[in-house]
Amino acid sequence: MNTDDQGGNELIEVRGLRKAFGDREVLRDVGFTVGAGTSTVLLGPSGSGKTTVLRSLNVLETPDAGLVRISDAAVDFDVLPADRALRRREIRELRARSGMVFQSHHLFPHKTVLGNLVEGPVQVQGRSREEAVDAARALLEQVGLAGREDAYPAQLSGGQQQRVGIARALALRPEVVLLDEPTSALDPELVGEVLAVIRDLAEQGWTMVIVTHEVRFARDVADQVLFLDEGVVAESGGAEVLTDPQHERTRQFLGRVL
Ligand code: ADP
Repeated sequence: MNTDDQGGNELIEVRGLRKAFGDREVLRDVGFTVGAGTSTVLLGPSGSGKTTVLRSLNVLETPDAGLVRISDAAVDFDVLPADRALRRREIRELRARSGMVFQSHHLFPHKTVLGNLVEGPVQVQGRSREEAVDAARALLEQVGLAGREDAYPAQLSGGQQQRVGIARALALRPEVVLLDEPTSALDPELVGEVLAVIRDLAEQGWTMVIVTHEVRFARDVADQVLFLDEGVVAESGGAEVLTDPQHERTRQFLGRVL
C-alpha cells in the first residue's frame, strides 16, 4: 500500500475522501497518491465508486470530506470555507491542474476539430490564437489525426472523435489527465486505436488516472492499480495486483473479467 506516502514526488494526493448521494455512502474513506509521470488505473465492480473518485479530483463531484491536492493546488473539504469566494478560487485552481476525458467525447458538433482544440486555450486561458493553433496541430499529429483539422466531429469515427477528445484535454496543458472509461462507449473494433494513444501518453510521461474495464490494457499501462470495492481502496499496488491479487474481492473481480 502506498496510501500513506507523504510529499516527495507525488503529484496527486487524496486523503479521507467521503461522498454520499442521499443516504447512500459511495466513498467511505478513499486515500491514495499518484507519482509525477505515472499512470494509475482505478478498477473495481460497477458502482464501487471509481467514477466518483475521478470526478472528485476535479470537483465535478463535491466530496463531503477529505482532501484533494494536485501539484500546488489543494482543496480541503474537511474545512468549511468561511469565505465562499476563496473556496471557489481554490476549486478553480485545482480544476486548472487536470484535463478530463469522458466516456463520450463531448465535442462541440458545430466546430471543426481544430476549433474544438483551440476554443479552451483561447477563451479560457487567454492564449493567442496563433499559438493555440500551432499547439493544436502538434497534438493532432500526436493522436494520429494530422490532416483532419477541418473535419467536423460527425465526419469522424467514434475512435477518431475520442482521440480528438484526448487531444482537447491535453490542449489545456494540464498537469494530470483524468480518463473516465475512455473506450466504453466505442464499438469493439475502435477500442484499440484509443488505447494505443493513451499508451503513448504514458510512455511520454504524462501523469494519468484512468477508470477502465480493460484489464489487459491496465496491465500494460498501470504503474499503480487501485482496486475499489464499496467505496474504499480494497487493494493497491503495482501491476502485480492484476496478476497476483491478494484480496478475495479482487480475485473474484479479475476472475470475472479476464
Ligand atoms: P463506478 O464508477 O465504480 O461504477 P460510480 O462512482 O459511478 O461507480 O457510482 C457509485 C455509486 O454512486 C453508484 O451506486 C451510483 O449509482 C451512485 N451515484 C453516482 N453518481 C450519482 C449521483 N449523481 N446521484 C446519485 N447517485 C449517484
